Amino acid sequence: MKKLTITLALLLVTALCTAQKKNTQHDVSCYDNGTLAAHQLEKTILDGASVSVNDELEVGKQVYDQMAEKYTILTSGEKYEKVLGIMNRLTAQISKYNNPSTNANFGQYKSHYKIYIIETDEINAFTAGARIFVTTGIYDFCKDDNELVSIIGHEISHNELGHIGYHLKRRKMAQGFFGGFGDLATLVGNVLTSPFGQTDEGQCDLFGMDLSKSAGFAPCHTIDLWERMAEKSGEKSFINLFSTHPYSGDRATCAKQHLSKNYSLDCE
Ligand SMILES: [Zn+2]
Repeated sequence: MKKLTITLALLLVTALCTAQKKNTQHDVSCYDNGTLAAHQLEKTILDGASVSVNDELEVGKQVYDQMAEKYTILTSGEKYEKVLGIMNRLTAQISKYNNPSTNANFGQYKSHYKIYIIETDEINAFTAGARIFVTTGIYDFCKDDNELVSIIGHEISHNELGHIGYHLKRRKMAQGFFGGFGDLATLVGNVLTSPFGQTDEGQCDLFGMDLSKSAGFAPCHTIDLWERMAEKSGEKSFINLFSTHPYSGDRATCAKQHLSKNYSLDCE
């Protein structure tokens, strides 16, 4: 009897935990530049290939090694402590959400996340294999912690929503289904230079805001950041990678809509 009671209690706790997971509406059509349908079809096909968390982590390590060869990477000091603290607060929220994507590895990167500050004036941030890179350029461009949260939340989301894995699957398919990834250095090059697509970028903003809101930050600050970025996007200090980001006014507008629809937040 006691055993049955314990089993029932455990079932109840499990049911409550599952029921309490959060869902938000991600309206990616807000970022649609006419390629959404084709992009989703390609993703469905690529879902036939599997990529493990370890595959992704290996690529992240390679990216780190390449960056460490070229740049000074900070892993201590005030700036580093700040971005690390933000990343930890955001990653602690992931398990509270139902998977908003088709990524089979969603929620499995948590213990692997690492963040680095790269010393360069270039305004940039990127990620691969649960490693997040933030330049001193973008750190200084952010006016406050809430803006940094937007950047870091966006990069975390690229991992959780399966965009890194998606690049690897593409590569795997290109190599033949059982052929693995081929040359790792070429693969890393692909990951760093291939665009994710507007709707994927958009969804990273949206899920990033969810994590930010859940962690107790003020996600409305993201709007001013994207507006300032849109103004800056033509400048040379913007590394090419950023041209893959939807730096149009849309990004601010879509963020505003998301916060209004899901959280009744009226951002000005
Ligand atoms: Zn991005």
